[in-house]
Amino acid sequence: MAKSKKKTSKKPTVIEVILALIIFVLGILFGDQVLPTTENTATTAGLADGKPAMHFVDVGQGDCTLITYNGDAVLIDAGPVSAGDAAAEYVKSYVDEIDYFIITHPHEDHMGGAADILDNIRVANIIMPDMEVDTRFYQNTMSRIDEKNINVIYSEAHAVYDTGNIKITIIDSVIPDDDNLNNVSIVTRIDAGSTSVMLSGDAEVEAEMQIVENYTSISGSALYDASILDCDVFKAGHHGSTTSNTSEFLDLVTPGTVVISCGTGNSYGHPHQETLDLFAGYGFEVHRTDHSGTVVLSGEP
Ligand SMILES: [Zn+2]
Repeated sequence: MAKSKKKTSKKPTVIEVILALIIFVLGILFGDQVLPTTENTATTAGLADGKPAMHFVDVGQGDCTLITYNGDAVLIDAGPVSAGDAAAEYVKSYVDEIDYFIITHPHEDHMGGAADILDNIRVANIIMPDMEVDTRFYQNTMSRIDEKNINVIYSEAHAVYDTGNIKITIIDSVIPDDDNLNNVSIVTRIDAGSTSVMLSGDAEVEAEMQIVENYTSISGSALYDASILDCDVFKAGHHGSTTSNTSEFLDLVTPGTVVISCGTGNSYGHPHQETLDLFAGYGFEVHRTDHSGTVVLSGEP
């Protein structure tokens, strides 16, 4: 009798105790995180309504960032051709229409998936550099833009676009450089609610230093006020390469959180160790799509 009573008692088993401990520790780690929080999965339906969300979509080696707030959406880049379908699928699962689609520069790892985006989601406006290239993905994108009669805005520094919920400020745009299209990258600050993000595409040292020079040496200019560079989140320049992410630029952006968008085992060695060391020195909270898949940060209204 005594034995069978013991068996049916409510005393937790070792496995139950371990499970409870795991749940308790997970609760401490993820339950009450101060924003921005990461969900690090592609299924983030639980993201709180009424808060801005920044989705750094895992497109392998490339960039694709979706920012949503109160039904408005801005997409920055679309990843490579190979990830176009997946990028479109991801974006479609969150929004019906993109208010502004920014193509930072006409490189395949940023513009390759653009035609798939345009095939699958309504886009109201496209912001891109006035820079033509002779590639198939460029032609495909431009023919879709023609067919669908989408409004194209060639980027200009200091231009501001406001969806009502998301504000786009073009920080700098286009160092004409046929030899290095990375420096053509549109550098953008996006404000969604009270959270701000800096996205610089693949802009390299020369472009970053031009921004630093412009925004710190032209005194008394309303157009160049360095405080506009101060952002909460920074999408690491050029996939975390040492050819970008200068300390001079970072000193003005002063992000708390940095997201690196790159592919696992990519042939460029992105992100470079030197860059990771620099970010660690600043104490940035660093997230990587090659480690975590799609990174989703939740901002403040
Ligand atoms: Zn790139």
